[in-house]
Amino acid sequence: MLFRSVNERIEQQALSFGGADAYEFICECSATTCVERIELTLGEYERVRGEGTRFFVLPGHENVTVELVVAEHPSFLIVQKDGAAGVLAELEDPRVGDQP
Ligand SMILES: [Zn+2]
Repeated sequence: MLFRSVNERIEQQALSFGGADAYEFICECSATTCVERIELTLGEYERVRGEGTRFFVLPGHENVTVELVVAEHPSFLIVQKDGAAGVLAELEDPRVGDQP
């Protein structure tokens, strides 16, 4: 993901400046033309980034066919991309238990 690496640089820069309250990260939705900004605190960023399959997008930028919205905030959504199909399958089939 291009924007993931951009966002990682934003975080590194933010940390080197001592970490203010909030920084503008770039929306990580699946639209390649989207360069919208999302304001996140470093704590919020780290919570999303802590899960490798999770990304933050602007409300309305989620793609529900390949992403699962796992958390909603006033200014952004957290979506799970990889394995979304597996999660959906898991919801439909209780025998599918241990998707990576
Ligand atoms: Zn977007």
